[in-house]
Amino acid sequence: MFRKLRFKLTMINVVVMSFLLLLFIISTFFVMQTQIFNQSQQLMQIIAGDAGSGIVSDKREHDRHLAKYFYVKTDASGKISEASTGLPLPLDQLAPLVYQTINGPNLKGEVELHDETYTYLKVPLKQTPGFLVAFFDLERDRDILRELLLTLSIGGLVSLILTYYGSRFMADRAMIPIKTSWQRQQDFVADASHELRTPLTVIQVNLELVQGNPEETVASQAKWLDYSLLEMKRMSKLVDDLLFLARADSQQQALELKPFPLHTALREVIESFKPLAETTEIRLESTLDSEITYFGDELRIKQLAVILLDNALKYTPSGGQITLSLQNRGASAEITVSDNGEGIEPKHLDKIFERFYRVDKARSQQKEGTGLGLAIADWIIKSHHGSVKVSSSLGAGTTFVVSLPQYNSH
Ligand code: ADP
Repeated sequence: MFRKLRFKLTMINVVVMSFLLLLFIISTFFVMQTQIFNQSQQLMQIIAGDAGSGIVSDKREHDRHLAKYFYVKTDASGKISEASTGLPLPLDQLAPLVYQTINGPNLKGEVELHDETYTYLKVPLKQTPGFLVAFFDLERDRDILRELLLTLSIGGLVSLILTYYGSRFMADRAMIPIKTSWQRQQDFVADASHELRTPLTVIQVNLELVQGNPEETVASQAKWLDYSLLEMKRMSKLVDDLLFLARADSQQQALELKPFPLHTALREVIESFKPLAETTEIRLESTLDSEITYFGDELRIKQLAVILLDNALKYTPSGGQITLSLQNRGASAEITVSDNGEGIEPKHLDKIFERFYRVDKARSQQKEGTGLGLAIADWIIKSHHGSVKVSSSLGAGTTFVVSLPQYNSH
């Protein structure tokens, strides 16, 4: 799949580059051709002008022009009366050709002299009857153009080969994030299926047990039914979390941003945890003295606090203590959740925000949880342009510090 994609990306690049190169070669060639042609035309114009004034001079005056040229002057009958220097062939051989041009109907044309094609220009002399016939050797111009075309073509071909390899290299690089995210997606689907299988199997086994004893009362089989219900709840939470992350991945998880009192929101969350903390004999404290009007999605920020407090409660044994505090740091609002629970080994710290990552799988399995809580928390923090720091020591407890920038608060 990736080889095909790489080939496609490379070819798109090569085709675009070929088109641009071709455009460049053609335009350069035509610009040069027009320029060279214009220069020769200019030379012809000068000669024609000179002929008018009768002072056609030696070649030197027109040296800056590329084309070689020579001229002859004739009388009215076409006999050569004067010739310039640098004739390519003796006068007696040139005479019939000149005669031919004089008697021809055209003022411009081409003649073959010594295997070379000359362009001629015939201008009537003004002061005396007769003509000036100038011969231009445009072969040098043509040679230059031919060489230019060859150089451009070779250059184009070399560039195209380099483009091919360059594009392959770039396609490889461009595909790294695609490959990574594809792999992540694959892992995600595999993990999700695996996590869904466990509750499904438990439900199936429990319901089969109930089904196997059709004579028994519901009350006597409550144990199996309770297990099933518990697993159903677990599965339902898992599916909710999966849906949240899937929406987040496809940018469909919209935020409802508006100003709200952050301290009040956090107080509400902590109040909702009080009963649970009491039953597990955990002291739940909060310092929410800073009054902060924060601009963000209230529901999501509450969800973030729920995830962190829920974890703290899950991983702190009875008799432990959990503290939630809010501090105004000026540029940011800082939410801290700390517990004196079981803690996390340092080697796991940078992985706990990954999807489905649970530090001790066997132990975590007994505790309710999907391994997606912190992944969701991370998304909420990032979508508010915030950051999170975790410090923990095994057996001593864990502290999460979430920093939410306030630059866009009102
Ligand atoms: P889970 O549903 O397993 O709690 P999370 O994504 O919320 O998933 O957390 C990932 C893992 O991080 C947990 O399984 C747990 O091992 C560890 N963890 C998170 N919070 C704490 C905490 N307060 N104390 C100890 N371990 C924690």
